[in-house]
Amino acid sequence: MRPEVLYSLFAPVESLPGIGPRTVKAFQTLAGPHVVDLCWHLPSGIIDRSYAPKVMEAQPGRVATLTVTVGEHQQPRSRRQPYRVRCHDDSGTLDLVFFHARPDYLHRILPIGETRVVSGKIEYFHGWPQISHPDHIASVEEQDTIQGVEPVYPLTAGLTLKVVGKAVRAALAQAPELPEWQDFGFWRQQGWTAWREALLAAHAPQGEDDLSALATPRQRLAYDELLANQLALALVRRSQTRMKGRAVEGDGHLRDQAIAALPFALTGSQRKALSEILDDMAAPHRMLRLLQGDVGSGKTVVALLSMLAAVEAGCQAALMAPTEILARQHDATIRPLAEAAGVEVLLLTGRDKGKGRARALERLKAGEVKLAIGTHALFQQDVEFQDLGLAVIDEQHRFGVHQRMSLQSKGRGVDVLVMTATPIPRTLMLTSYGDMEASRLTEKPAGRQPVDTRSISLDRLGDVVDGVARAIEQGRKVYWVCPLVEESDKSDLAAAEERFAALKTRFGARVGLVHGRMKAAEKDRAMADFKEGDIDLLVATTVIEVGVDVPSATVMVIEHAERFGLAQLHQLRGRIGRGSERSSCLLLYQGPLGETARARLRIMRETDDGFRIAEEDMRLRGAGELLGTRQSGFPEFRLADLAVHGELLAAARDDAKLVLERDPELQGERGRALRVLLYLFERDQAVRFLRSG
Ligand code: ADP
Ligand code: MG
Repeated sequence: MRPEVLYSLFAPVESLPGIGPRTVKAFQTLAGPHVVDLCWHLPSGIIDRSYAPKVMEAQPGRVATLTVTVGEHQQPRSRRQPYRVRCHDDSGTLDLVFFHARPDYLHRILPIGETRVVSGKIEYFHGWPQISHPDHIASVEEQDTIQGVEPVYPLTAGLTLKVVGKAVRAALAQAPELPEWQDFGFWRQQGWTAWREALLAAHAPQGEDDLSALATPRQRLAYDELLANQLALALVRRSQTRMKGRAVEGDGHLRDQAIAALPFALTGSQRKALSEILDDMAAPHRMLRLLQGDVGSGKTVVALLSMLAAVEAGCQAALMAPTEILARQHDATIRPLAEAAGVEVLLLTGRDKGKGRARALERLKAGEVKLAIGTHALFQQDVEFQDLGLAVIDEQHRFGVHQRMSLQSKGRGVDVLVMTATPIPRTLMLTSYGDMEASRLTEKPAGRQPVDTRSISLDRLGDVVDGVARAIEQGRKVYWVCPLVEESDKSDLAAAEERFAALKTRFGARVGLVHGRMKAAEKDRAMADFKEGDIDLLVATTVIEVGVDVPSATVMVIEHAERFGLAQLHQLRGRIGRGSERSSCLLLYQGPLGETARARLRIMRETDDGFRIAEEDMRLRGAGELLGTRQSGFPEFRLADLAVHGELLAAARDDAKLVLERDPELQGERGRALRVLLYLFERDQAVRFLRSG
């Protein structure tokens, strides 16, 4: 239960004065549903209003705050002309200018003969100073409402700075004093203030420096967020390892048969990863391990051999993939090898319905099949296993902790192996997995050629198409990946269909198309025609991003490569260079390129080391965020910026660990304050792992 002291922060945003039915949606998009979300909405800029000259001294182009006496109101003579309110001080006259004015309103806020404090940008018109649409108009008594340095907030359609600023102030007014959850020594050493003070200070920047993620109040808030994150992860992890695990240890007879059926020898890193996994499974605790390896590094075989070890020990094993295509592909790779060891494989996806599905579920429950492969269909509620010993999750960033745990709950002490194809930088790894054990496949299988990567301007599309034609003549298979046009499937699709139609006029029936909106069966057919049939050139949206394996494909064209992220480009490129043939990747870009896009393309040309790409990706994205280009939506961290706060993260990790050693159930004074922290950052789930108190 959320502590009472936080109630005001978790009131709905629309409970704040100034947020009504017309703007509530916009506020939810901008910040989030609760008052606390507005507290986390930190300023991205400032307007300095401390410049307070006499009218005649006011410099054009500067924001000024002036105290004036209101004179005549001048109605415009035509609708195109503005309404003017002539004001003055003892040095001269200043016009306040309003387009589309409502005279009754202006008479109310600017009564003739009264003194008013106005603030806005000074312009000169026909030699006279004026301010059009002043940002602030206040009476002398109210002049304190005009801040000397006004924070500027990121906005969204339908909300002005005035409205957002007011709402944030109202939200801050509801922020309570909270008990201190920081370690006193660390807190003092950092020179931090109490939470509420830090929050107010972060919203009251006095200069540009105060906007930096390194400003003291912002650091404290970021640390709070990171500490909540690390503490929550540590609690989840502790609850998992506390749950009784079991020792799963096979005798190797199935693995030997599968290995004998492999057309290749395992790489050194595959063998090492495998032995780490098997040791972990054989230990009496629960395994929770990450298998990291670049695209094409051979994770599937490692997964299969681990699963066979579970089957040897008499348990069942399941592999869960994020998409239907991937599940089928894993099935195609694994089935022949498993069968060579005499182990039957059951495939279960969303496409299985009715009787077939019911039969499959019965067999799983009865333990008639030991090895299951599937999509999320595998962890639906009615799926039961006779005795699940190992769950392998091919994660590709798509499953959350929650799903991971629901598969785990399908058996007693299930060991879990999570596979990710995108190497994750150390910092990100910490924030999303905590101190999870990891095995890394750093070696590429033998015989792989590096991919020759070039970037070419879209202006040279004609040359590129000629090049594709030559490649096809040489019997090569070509992917043509179409751009993300906005964040919608629809426009992606239109772009892909257009390119498909254009290429068809040249290449006829040798061109195929695959996109996310096709039915699964159509998609499979298109992929199969490309892999083994008459299709040589496959136009695709990013559906091919995840693990599809066509070793004969050796050319990839990525159109509007500048629109893709680095990790995504790397994933895409991983589709080629899988066989022993030399492969090439053409990154088609539309100039002029922004700095970040240019850097991305350069890194892609320079390296295909996934671990380096992952680090660079984070660095670039972090920089983007610093510049305030963070996309709307809900980023994982509201206050911490991993590109800048890496050290705070490491400190938070150690802090969380130490706290739980000293006060495992968070019942001491600091412990109780930390519970508030967990609720503040909406880690309510984690609190459930604690004894109440
Ligand atoms: P990942 O899932 O890591 O992207 P896969 O497991 O799909 O990679 O393997 C990619 C390809 O490499 C597959 O065709 C697989 O059969 C092959 N492969 C795996 N291990 C080796 C190896 N040790 N030597 C040669 N080829 C391998
Ligand atoms: Mg794979």
